[in-house]
Amino acid sequence: MAEPFLVESPNVTYSKDFIEAKYTYSTVHVCKENGVTKVRPCSTRFTFRTGRQVPRLGVMLVGWGGNNGTTVTAAVLANKLGLSWMTKTGRKKANYYGSLLQASTVCLGTGPSGDVYVPFRDLLPMVHPNDIVFDGWDISSLNLAEAMKRAEVLEWPLQEQLWPHMEKMKPRPSIYIPEFIAANQEERADNVLRGSMAEQVEQIRRDIRDFKESSGVDKVIVLWTANTERFCDIVPGLNDTADNLLRAIERGLEVSPSTLFAVASILEGCAYINGSPQNTFVPGAVELAAQRRVFIGGDDFKSGQTKLKSVLVDFLVGAGLKTKSIVSYNHLGNNDGKNLSAPQQFRSKEISKSNVVDDTVQANPILYGPQDKPDHCVVIKYVPYVGDSKRALDEYTSEIMMGGTNTIVIHNTCEDSLLASPIILDLAILTELCQRITFCTEADPEFQGFHSVLSILAFLCKAPLVPEGTPVVNALFRQRSCIENILRACLGLPPQNHMLLEHKMQ
Ligand code: NAD
Repeated sequence: MAEPFLVESPNVTYSKDFIEAKYTYSTVHVCKENGVTKVRPCSTRFTFRTGRQVPRLGVMLVGWGGNNGTTVTAAVLANKLGLSWMTKTGRKKANYYGSLLQASTVCLGTGPSGDVYVPFRDLLPMVHPNDIVFDGWDISSLNLAEAMKRAEVLEWPLQEQLWPHMEKMKPRPSIYIPEFIAANQEERADNVLRGSMAEQVEQIRRDIRDFKESSGVDKVIVLWTANTERFCDIVPGLNDTADNLLRAIERGLEVSPSTLFAVASILEGCAYINGSPQNTFVPGAVELAAQRRVFIGGDDFKSGQTKLKSVLVDFLVGAGLKTKSIVSYNHLGNNDGKNLSAPQQFRSKEISKSNVVDDTVQANPILYGPQDKPDHCVVIKYVPYVGDSKRALDEYTSEIMMGGTNTIVIHNTCEDSLLASPIILDLAILTELCQRITFCTEADPEFQGFHSVLSILAFLCKAPLVPEGTPVVNALFRQRSCIENILRACLGLPPQNHMLLEHKMQ
């Protein structure tokens, strides 16, 4: 397989099936001994092995007929077909703007004429989004062309070109338990499975197998982009362990549709990603994924306001300013907004949006005491007229030197689904890549994969799911560096350190 570049190093070998890289992971261990803080640099020798054969990838979306589901499917088709369309400001061409992997670059190193940048997607062999085959479920029976029209996201001349392709796509009937989403969603629920909870999970498993067989894809990843559900209570005996969760499904007890999809997906050995804020990954689901060594990731796409927040507060606090208050208003008029106008579903979103500055604040004890955090208020209102064009207004107030205050106000207008769609692609492609990466250390020479809770996806998620007891990183550029540097490690390349020492000498 032709790589866009080759690493020439005694630590890196390319075979037909693998890229294998020996890599020294340098960290610093800090501990307190007899009242003295001891700081010890340490290093671990890793070997990374990355499969070079890129599979044919199928992605099954739960909520396929929604704004995100139809937009991402349409965008991939439009790119694959090389479509363009007229608007009042001229001709637009299909692209993948907003995708970390397709539309951003990384610096490979320095050449005779300066830094050499390559697309992120060229770092390691990855699935191209044009090659992804989509399928999925929705409680609404509209075909994808009608659903795209209902979403009101894409320009009409583009929809017209896509119509004959999308019309043939029809969401599979889904699991609908009305109490989990807003009552105002009931009118679209005309495509729902019947039977006991266990039978419905069986049907979802059959759907995954059927899709795999009929489409000829090698691998399937399942991703929830359906409505935000209310949170579930974590109840001992119900959903606290894998066995209890499976028993609860057999007995038809309280299990959310998103958790039922997660269970079906994990049992089929398919990675499952949660693009909404609810606590799909109850402890029993996390345990089941670990037992079956299947990746799970989430929660909630980090698309607009939260992405900016995870940059701005990092910048403010990192610059030594004490951010005291963050107030975020949103109004939107799509079906997501309609569903979030119900209190319990809003609460799920509020929780997922609210912890995003915690790590940045906790990392600065000069500015913040142990119990100290900025006031943080999130408001979401449903205003049908603005449709998918979400408005976000944020006010950040920080204390500056000698009692001064600094207030930054931001107004953001953006089609929500056009931000979320590239994130869906990145989530699926990165997850698939991680399934082909294994590694070992000198102390533990047996090759293993990443932890089943795939925290490398954090850049793409508002409330990153991490293995229990491990740090949650929200700051956007730390999250980006994590992906970039792990991918570089797979090629035996040192982490990007930005020191530029070669330019700092006499
Ligand atoms: P949407 O309402 O347009 O689409 C959701 C779809 O899910 C609908 O078609 C609905 O019929 C379907 N659905 C509901 N329950 C279902 C079930 N049990 N099984 C199958 N289908 C079901 O919403 P959207 O704008 O596409 O957003 C989808 C999700 O992504 C929402 O939860 C939203 O909060 C989350 N999200 C979106 C963004 C963004 O920028 N667009 C960002 C972060 C999170």
